Amino acid sequence: MSLTIQIQDYAYHAMTDPNLDPNRTPPSLWAATAPAAPSTSPLPAGEHSADLAVIGAGFTGLTAALHAAERGAKVVVLEASEVGWGASGRNNGQVIPSLTRADPDVLVQAFGAEHGETLAVVLGNSANTLFDLVRKHGIACQAVQNGWVQPAHRESRLALSRSRFEQWKRRGAPVQLLDRDEVAAITGSPYWCGGWTNPTGGHIDPLAFARGLARAAISAGAAVHTHSPATGLQRVGERWRVATPTGSVIARRVLVATHGYTGTVAPSPWPGLARAMVAVRSYQLATEPLTPELRASILPRNHALSDTQGDLHFCHLDGEGRLVSGGALVFHADFERRLRERISLRLVKMFPQLQSLAEIRFEYVWHGVFAATPDKLPRFWRLGDGVLGWGGCNGRGVAFAVALGPLLADAALDGEAAARKLPFEAPRAIPGHVFAQLGVAAGKLYYRWLDGRD
Ligand SMILES: Cc1cc2nc3c(=O)[nH]c(=O)nc-3n(C[C@H](O)[C@H](O)[C@H](O)COP(=O)(O)OP(=O)(O)OC[C@H]3O[C@@H](n4cnc5c(N)ncnc54)[C@H](O)[C@@H]3O)c2cc1C
Repeated sequence: MSLTIQIQDYAYHAMTDPNLDPNRTPPSLWAATAPAAPSTSPLPAGEHSADLAVIGAGFTGLTAALHAAERGAKVVVLEASEVGWGASGRNNGQVIPSLTRADPDVLVQAFGAEHGETLAVVLGNSANTLFDLVRKHGIACQAVQNGWVQPAHRESRLALSRSRFEQWKRRGAPVQLLDRDEVAAITGSPYWCGGWTNPTGGHIDPLAFARGLARAAISAGAAVHTHSPATGLQRVGERWRVATPTGSVIARRVLVATHGYTGTVAPSPWPGLARAMVAVRSYQLATEPLTPELRASILPRNHALSDTQGDLHFCHLDGEGRLVSGGALVFHADFERRLRERISLRLVKMFPQLQSLAEIRFEYVWHGVFAATPDKLPRFWRLGDGVLGWGGCNGRGVAFAVALGPLLADAALDGEAAARKLPFEAPRAIPGHVFAQLGVAAGKLYYRWLDGRD
């Protein structure tokens, strides 16, 4: 009943906001710059067989499909909207080989030494995994692997920088600890007081990357069907029937890769899954192209940047010299006007040289949701016999989702031995999920308060 109300509510808002409408491409910078998507169509009527049915054509679903098809499996991808329509095609494009708060030692603490270290290795290699795919498949997506930097906004956060640097260094990552001057040289700004960097990170046009992955998956033999929401899963003997409004897929294994969009654009393919995570909205903006002088002075080595604030300050330059940034809002009403004002002030604070502009003009404003968990840890789900999934990127999943897709495909196709590599569990509803959005708003206020104190 509450799911029906949720979907009806979503459909109502989708009429007025193109960011929510699965029949429109979100009005992002990437929609304007990405090459066209490969030609796809809805699942034809009738029953279709597959070794692996993948639900959701974001980075998780597409890299899983590509990998499984390259292994020779018969793969069918079902996407409720278009390729990359969820978080994957509308994020900031930062390729970061770490999570927001689940640092490697935290992963080990939470999942045990074996699973925790496995996840740390996958995560630590994830940016290289992504850029290797770009190179291997020749994906035109403005890929820049010049490093990701996390500068500290207060002296007190330098302890966090050092801790993260040490945890990754111990695991062999090519990370560097940076003093104030080194950070100023990378950022082009005196705003931060030190930090750390991982040179394997970088940035991409994420929609172009998603579309390139889809093209590669199709070339490898996968069938990708758009505007084909999976409306339910039903056991049929040893296999699963995945129903869509047109046809259905009878598959040996199923990967549910609907992540933060579970139960929004379409019913959740698995009952209760949407209550195992919380959808958190993130807003993105891109300026008009900066003057050559400003462009040369801001992030002069073309890094991706996201700092230590809970109310995250982040940005990078696109190929045309636009500053691609964004932020969080506590409430959604009048978001566009409020964001333009808020992020203008923020960018001038981060890069004082922007004061030379009479005003910062934004060409694109858009938003999307990612899946969060109360403890900021990702979750790996065994939903049914041969049905797997994951969720809870907590805002940092571009590289991680790309690296996880093939692991999830292997775990689904190869059964128990492969599945033991990841800490799969049954999904558990978050207690008080109905009040989760209040908790998210309170959390944002708390982080803002903390950012100014510790
Ligand atoms: C605005 C924003 C900015 C972000 N910025 C960054 C960043 O800079 N760096 C970073 O590391 N991370 C970032 N993230 C997080 C990152 O984008 C995600 O972790 C990642 O894209 C998740 O990929 P996914 O494939 O698992 O899920 P998604 O890309 O969300 O894909 C899920 C797909 O499932 C589809 N779907 C849902 N229900 C059904 C159904 N029933 N049947 C069929 N299909 C269905 C949806 O339409 C969607 O396309 C950001 C997220 C957002 C929202």
